Amino acid sequence: MKHFETKAIRNQTERTQYKEHSTPTFFTSSFVFDDAEHMRAMFAGEAEGNIYSRYSNPSTTELVDKVCAMEGAEAGFTTASGMSAIFTSIIAFLQQGDHVIASRAVFGSTHQILNNILPRWGITFTYVDPMDVNSWEQAVQSNTKMLLLETPSNPGLCLIDLEKAGAFAKAHNLIFNVDNCFATPYLQRPIDFGADIVVHSATKWMDGQGRVLGGLIVGREALMPQIQTFIRHSGPAMSPFNAWIISKSLETLAVRMDRHCSNALQLADFLNDHSDINTVLYPHHPSHPQYQLGKRQMSQGGGIVTFEVKGGVERGTQFIDQIKMLSISSNLGDARSIITHPASTTHSKLSEAERAAVGITPGLIRVSVGLEHIEDIIKDLDQALAASRVSQGVAIGASI
Ligand SMILES: *Cc1c(COP(=O)(O)O)cnc(C)c1O
Repeated sequence: MKHFETKAIRNQTERTQYKEHSTPTFFTSSFVFDDAEHMRAMFAGEAEGNIYSRYSNPSTTELVDKVCAMEGAEAGFTTASGMSAIFTSIIAFLQQGDHVIASRAVFGSTHQILNNILPRWGITFTYVDPMDVNSWEQAVQSNTKMLLLETPSNPGLCLIDLEKAGAFAKAHNLIFNVDNCFATPYLQRPIDFGADIVVHSATKWMDGQGRVLGGLIVGREALMPQIQTFIRHSGPAMSPFNAWIISKSLETLAVRMDRHCSNALQLADFLNDHSDINTVLYPHHPSHPQYQLGKRQMSQGGGIVTFEVKGGVERGTQFIDQIKMLSISSNLGDARSIITHPASTTHSKLSEAERAAVGITPGLIRVSVGLEHIEDIIKDLDQALAASRVSQGVAIGASI
C-alpha cells in the first residue's frame, strides 16, 4: 500500500479530455444526460455519475476519495463547513427519543448543537469525562445510539483513549463518531481504533492557510446511505472551489504538519521553562498529564499549544494586547500563527463551570503555531510577556 504522503498527492481521480497534470476544478451546478433513458437511470441510482452539485460534483468527489485514503475510510461526503459535517453526522442517524454520549470537551458549536438544537427534536445527551473512559458505563441508557468524541479537544487539549473508547462503543453497539480536526489523519487515524465515522473541519489544518470553510464526513460504507439522503435533500454542499483548494492543500499536509508540530513542541518547551507561565499543555510534551497516551495514539503532538499566563485574565488580556506579529483571531490551523482567548470567544456561550470542567480556565490562551520561523514566534511571545509584566507593575510572584 502507498504511504500517506504519496496517497495525498497521487490520489487524483479526475482528469478531463485535456489530460491536465494538476487537478481541474468543475464549476457547474448541474450535469447533462445523454438522453431520457440515461436521465432516468441516473435518478434511479442505476448509473454512475453526477446529477447536480448539491448531490455531488467531481471536485468534491476527488476530495472525498483523497480524505478516505488518508483516514482509511470506505466512503464519505463533503459539507460546507466543519459544523455542517458534525450536525449531519449526528442528525442523519438519530431520531426523537434517541440519546448521545458526548465528551464534555467538544467544540463550542458542538456544545450548542447538543444543548440547544437536538433537545428540540427530542434527542438527549449525557456528557462524560474525556479523560476517564471507565466512568462512561454509567452514562449508557437503553436508547443510547451514538458516542461523540473530539481528541485532542479544542482548546483544552484533553486526550481520549481511542482504543478504550472503541471497545466501549462496540460493547454497547454505538455509532462511534470522532472529530479528528486537531490531529488530522496524518497524526491520528480514529478508524484504526474502531471509529465508524470521522468528521473534520477542513477549514483548519487541511486547508492550512485560512482561506476557505469546509467539512468532511468519512467512515463505513454501510452508514453512508443515511448521510447521503440528509445531504442531498437538506443541502449543506461544499463549493467545488473550496473542494479544489482543500484537495490542493492536502498535497502538502504532511510537510506542513511536520513543521507545525516541531514549532509547537519548541514553543511548549519555551513556555514550560518560562517563569511567567503557570501551565502549558501540549500532547507530546512530557508535562502533559496524558503524555503517554498522546505518544501512543498520535504520531506527533499537533500544532496547538495552550497555556496560562501568571496574573489571571487581566494579565492574559494585557499579554495579548502586547503581541506584535501573531494574529489575534479565533481561527486555527493557518500558516500564520494565531493567538486567541477561548473563554471570551469560541467557548463564550458556556458557563464558567462548564468551561472549568474541560480545562478552559479564564486565563487560558491558545496559540495555533504557524509556519513562521520558530525563533520569531518565540520572540514575539517573549516580548509580550515582558511588556505585560511591566504594565502589571511586576505583580508576578503571586499566583492567580
Ligand atoms: C473549528 C472547529 C470546528 C468547526 O468547524 P467550522 O469549519 O468552523 O465549521 C469543529 N471542530 C473543531 C475541533 C474545530 O476546531
